[in-house]
Amino acid sequence: MAQREYDKLRLQLPRFCGCDTCRGDVLVYTVNRLSPHYVSTSQGEVLTELRLGSDQEKAKLDVVLLEGFRKVGLAPRCGAKPVQLV
Ligand SMILES: [Zn+2]
Repeated sequence: MAQREYDKLRLQLPRFCGCDTCRGDVLVYTVNRLSPHYVSTSQGEVLTELRLGSDQEKAKLDVVLLEGFRKVGLAPRCGAKPVQLV
């Protein structure tokens, strides 16, 4: 679910690096913000725990994802050039 929304928003942010490192950072940031108790060593595990039942929760996911994009875009760990996305 989080990954599908990531892919959707990613298309609207062509300047975002989007490599595996940055993608993982955005997703982990998002999941940790939404579900602080789901801290896990396995990213896949965390993401499957994230369940979104309503449009309201989906909207919240988009907001947090965008925050993640902005944060990771400003300081990509992969060494890409930082970009101001929003
Ligand atoms: Zn990157």
